[in-house]
Amino acid sequence: MPEELYLNNMNLKKFEAKVVSVTDGKFIILNQTVFYPKSGGVANDEGVLKKDSEIYNVVYVGKFGGKVSHEVDKTGLCVGDKVIGELDWIRRFKLMRYHTAVHVVSGIFYKNLGVKITGGDISIDQGRVDFNLEHFDRNEIEKQIKECNDIIQKDYPVEVYYMDRAEVEIDPDLTKLAKGFPKNIKTVRIVDIKGFDRQPDGGCHVSSLKEIGKIQISKLINKGKNNRRLYITLE
Ligand SMILES: [Zn+2]
Repeated sequence: MPEELYLNNMNLKKFEAKVVSVTDGKFIILNQTVFYPKSGGVANDEGVLKKDSEIYNVVYVGKFGGKVSHEVDKTGLCVGDKVIGELDWIRRFKLMRYHTAVHVVSGIFYKNLGVKITGGDISIDQGRVDFNLEHFDRNEIEKQIKECNDIIQKDYPVEVYYMDRAEVEIDPDLTKLAKGFPKNIKTVRIVDIKGFDRQPDGGCHVSSLKEIGKIQISKLINKGKNNRRLYITLE
């Protein structure tokens, strides 16, 4: 199983790895990686793989059959090659900021409105949160976002750790989200905004809330009580 280094070190930008498989010349699996694959509604990392003086741009990263596959822009890499991988950190940092911002929004919506987040999408220039809400009121949502920004100003640290699945399943804060984990998962990665919100999560986050900046509503779409959509941008 190739090691996904980003799970335990979200600030790692550069790493050494070995090519373990190449498909169609351009889809590369490494023995370890810091590249986050597109998953959980979060966009993938980009960056480069370097072999000697040759640079291969990583244009897409996905997870297939449990393995992180790096799509590069040209052929030439072979099984056994040693490469240096480097993230496009500007892109990654934006994704981390948006991802943590979405956790703050879902935390506030859950605490204050009892609202369930039904979906979302995170890219480098916006975050989308889908939710169910009986009574839709734009002023109410604006009030909640203001509260999100107050929480961000408190600059809580964000921590990552693992919990036993059994423990997660009896934790009322985590239970509703723990459903749907594949049966073979024994330990669950938790992203904990200390003192505010915990979620089972496989993604990358900033290490304290002020790194997010300020959340702004860019669009609010009302498609009926089971389909509200909030788009946010960060200042
Ligand atoms: Zn998340």
